[in-house]
This record gives sequence, structure tokens and C-alpha cells, in this order.
Amino acid sequence: MIPALMPTYNRADLAFERGEGCWLYTGDGRRFLDFGAGIATSSLGHNHPGLTAAIAEQAHKVMHVSNLYRVPQAEKLAARLVAATFADSVFFCNSGAEANEGMVKMIRRAQYETGHPERFRVICFEGAFHGRTLAMLAATGNAKYLKGFGPEVDGFDHVPFNNLNAVRDAIGPHTAGILVEPVQGEGGIRPAHLQFLRDLRATCDEFGLILGMDEIQSGMGRSGKLFAHEWAGIVPDVMSAAKGIAGGFPMGAILARESVAKHLTAGTHGTTFGGNPLACAAANAVLDVVLAPGFLADVDRRARIFWRGLVQVAAEFPDVFEDARGAGLLLGLKCVVPNTEVQAAFTAEGLLSVGAGDNVVRLAPPLIVSDAEIAEALEMMRRGARRCLPSASRVAAK
Ligand SMILES: *Cc1c(COP(=O)(O)O)cnc(C)c1O
Repeated sequence: MIPALMPTYNRADLAFERGEGCWLYTGDGRRFLDFGAGIATSSLGHNHPGLTAAIAEQAHKVMHVSNLYRVPQAEKLAARLVAATFADSVFFCNSGAEANEGMVKMIRRAQYETGHPERFRVICFEGAFHGRTLAMLAATGNAKYLKGFGPEVDGFDHVPFNNLNAVRDAIGPHTAGILVEPVQGEGGIRPAHLQFLRDLRATCDEFGLILGMDEIQSGMGRSGKLFAHEWAGIVPDVMSAAKGIAGGFPMGAILARESVAKHLTAGTHGTTFGGNPLACAAANAVLDVVLAPGFLADVDRRARIFWRGLVQVAAEFPDVFEDARGAGLLLGLKCVVPNTEVQAAFTAEGLLSVGAGDNVVRLAPPLIVSDAEIAEALEMMRRGARRCLPSASRVAAK
């Protein structure tokens, strides 16, 4: 019989009762170092005092009023995001896929309102992940995810990642914009070359296209800057954020320059829950930490320590790992053996990770992870890797 909870996930047989910082505890007293962070989402770890207090306080006052009224918490959050980014205006919603949907609507509407109703197609990349709604399945373009959900939503063209010539060849009279992840997360922790991002910006300017950035996974401090595109020294026209934005409270956001945002006038787009007082209180508490002086620089410092350690671990176990990859605290180990085996071995050593495409094990700890916890995770990885060795080399590695 089908379980009451619809079985759309192959879940690990672990149930966590509570968490503290980077650690999660099961009901039967086992503890795990959480380098998955709920898929790069629990940016402040678990039971963060500032975040839990903000949520509790706001819940006691008012959680939800709808967007028929002013929401001061949303006004404050939007103003802070505008001050900290390229954006002039922000729309709040509830998830990543929803933010991307809104971003594509903005791209189409901006072309429509500026005399190009024929421009509706968006160029996306092989290996991308943009979410599970019908349109975002088409933007993702992964045949496995699309199967049986047809007809596929029209308007998305796919080209190889990090290949400018392919992008330029794909531009046609119906092209409205480009949608890119600065670091492909689900696709296997593949960073865009910084020059590629600069070239996309220049190409969009050359052809009158709108550059959309999906920073749902790479953003909100994970790269060591507030948003990963900042490393390339460019700005997009519109961008989505979600995952870490409210530290685990469900929220998404679309950040846009005025030239794009101004076309979404009253009544053109909406949401019941999006940007409600509770979600915005959580996101403001996250920003209190992430925008505090020195915090992002220290994420960068710790990320570089973790990176050097990962490269070393990968080199020590060539029978298990092919390479280390990623940016900031969004890192991965490309595996030689099946990534599911490596993940299980890490879990057995007390370390949580997340799988990704291209046979990669993803490591995305909370942004508050300490130097000591990084060192501990690297030791757990070494012990886990030993479990994955073919038995002959296991003896040699001892
Ligand atoms: C997770 C993710 C999404 C989808 O977000 P949901 O909140 O699951 O809808 C979209 N794009 C990227 C890059 C993501 O990592």
C-alpha cells in the first residue's frame, strides 16, 4: 500500500529530533555533522538564537496578512537587499521554482513592453536545474524529470554550459534572455567560468537580451560573497534567490533592476503567502548575520581551508574520488565509485552530505561552520573513503 506520505523521495532512514549549530541529533541519541544543510538551505545551522527568536517574536505578533496590506518586515528586507545588490526592486515568494517562474515572466514581460512581443524564448544550459513546476521542468530540460509530464512548456533552448559560441549560435529573433546558474548545483557542482559570465553579460547587451541569474543555491553568502556572480564583476538584470534566504524558513525572491521590474505593474503577478511577516522576519534575521561586517570574508576564508582539505582528500583516495570542485561553501567530490556508496559511507561516519548530478557528493555546510568542524568533516571523509576502497587497497591504506 502507498505510504500516507507520498513516496516521491528515497529517504535515508534517519529522523532528526533537534539540531544545534552544524549538528543534528536523532531521537535515539546519535549525532551527525550536517554538511548538507537541508540542501544548502540551513545557512545559519540549527537552533540559531537570532533566527529562532525572530521567528518566535513575529509569530506571537502576526504571521500572515496577505499582500493586500503593507508589510513593514518585507519593506525592510527589500530595502536591505536592494542596498546590498545590483537590484532596484524585490518580489518575495515561497520557493525557488516559484522565484524562477516569476523571473521568466519578468523577462518575457519586459521584452513585450519594450516593443518585442516576439521575444519569449530563454536560453538555458545543459546540466541546469531550475525547479519542478511545469515551466521550470522545461527550463531544466532534464529528460528524466520531464518524462510523462508532457507536453513540455515551450520557450526554452538548451546549449552546453561554459560554451559562448553555442550561446551565440542559439540566439534567434525569438530569444528574450539567458538563464544561468553561476554554479550549477544539482547538475554536479559545476562553476561557470568567470569569463563566461562576463561574456554572457556582454552578449546580452549586444543582442538586447535580458540576463537572468539563478542564485537559488549559490546565493545568500554561500560563495563567500552575497551572490556568486559578484566574483565575475558583473551584474545580471534579474535574479532569483531562495534556499538559504530565510535560513530554512520557506521563501523565495526575485531581485531585479528597474528596467525589468517596472513592467510588473499592479495585478500582473501575485502570491498569497509570499513575503509575509513571518518569512520576512526570518530572512531579516539571516541578513543580520550574513551582512555583519567581516562575516562573508570569513565564509571565504573558511571555504578556502575546506577547499584545500578536499583537494587533499581527493588526492589521497584516487580509487574513490576523481576531483574536488565548486566554489565557496558549495563544494563537491566527483566520485569514481557510485556517489550513493560514498554518501552512505560518510553517513556511517557521522557526516551528512547530499548527492548531485555527474556522480558528485555535494558538501554545503551551514555558513557558520567552524574551522574545527571543517577539520572534523575532512577526517570523517577520510574514514568514509576507506570504507569505499576495494578490499585489496583498503589494507594498503591503513
Ligand atoms: C533548489 C533549486 C531550485 C528550486 O528550488 P525549490 O525551492 O525546490 O523550488 C531552482 N534552482 C536552483 C539553482 C536550485 O538549487
